[in-house]
Amino acid sequence: TPTIGVLALQGDTAEHLRVLDGLGVTAVPVLRAAELDGVDGLVIPGGESTTMSKLAARYELMEPLRKHIREGMPAYGTCAGMILLADRIIDGTADQQTIGGIDMTVRRNAFGRQTESFEGRVAIDGVDGPDVDAVFIRAPWVEDVGPGVHVLGQLTDGDRADRIVAVRQGGLLATSFHPELTGDARIHRLFVDMVKGKV
Ligand code: GLN
Repeated sequence: TPTIGVLALQGDTAEHLRVLDGLGVTAVPVLRAAELDGVDGLVIPGGESTTMSKLAARYELMEPLRKHIREGMPAYGTCAGMILLADRIIDGTADQQTIGGIDMTVRRNAFGRQTESFEGRVAIDGVDGPDVDAVFIRAPWVEDVGPGVHVLGQLTDGDRADRIVAVRQGGLLATSFHPELTGDARIHRLFVDMVKGKV
């Protein structure tokens, strides 16, 4: 069984640990650089990306995270975690750093105030069965992607139609929404299969 870490600086770490636990992998919180050596993959939770990147800098995790990702550690970012995996961001704070890794531009708080939180159904490439129930909480969307990035999911309704909300590049996966909050473990299972090298 693989060991999957969940970055525990800030955000909904516990929910991810619970879902991963339910999938039979060894799920551990990660707070120190040395702990990255012991994991086969890493989940970066939702929360507040500016706070998370400040804390990552303070815990001296930024460079170790970048190094592990460069060297091929699979990672899955949800919401703020998606922002952290983006090579470029729009509407970040002036000094906001990302770990990077996915050749995409992400617009932070993209859905705006009126629709800070909403729920929608999204078809995700690589996830069988009914569309995924997706919870968006002050979520980002993906503004554009480079040629190596596979778009896995886009919204279909009204104003938000075509907005990209799920992507994959090699071993890196990111969603604008929070599957750890809905009880549907299929996207986590996809990530576990990526970590196992099955997909
Ligand atoms: N708006 C938050 C940010 O910019 C993300 C919100 C979330 O993770 N639910 O980091």
